Amino acid sequence: MDGLTARDRSTFNAGIEAARQMALTAAVTLEVRDDARQVRQQAAVAALQGLAAGLHAAFIAPLAETGPMHRVMAAIAADPAGSGAVECLDCKGWLAWARDSSNGHLHAQCETEGCLKLMQ
Ligand SMILES: [Zn+2]
Repeated sequence: MDGLTARDRSTFNAGIEAARQMALTAAVTLEVRDDARQVRQQAAVAALQGLAAGLHAAFIAPLAETGPMHRVMAAIAADPAGSGAVECLDCKGWLAWARDSSNGHLHAQCETEGCLKLMQ
């Protein structure tokens, strides 16, 4: 039964990865269009990139990492906004974050000197 469970999980992960790759591919396709600067196109690109990040945060990353910092990053990834601030897990200060619109990477930095600073 363990073998089947592992295979089921593997199949599920592969499906999620496929959906994520489709979303990312669609975003890139929109970016190379001549009219890509139009606001609606940009919004569509952002939405697709957000979807891809959300899929990863919700279905893939948790299987490998379920620590509190990951949950913060997952919450950030699921936020449709491009930037914001959440409570820092270490010092309870503000952890400011921003999403790189060009590659979807998340950058986060705590307001406290020497505290959390990361990129995902
Ligand atoms: Zn902190």
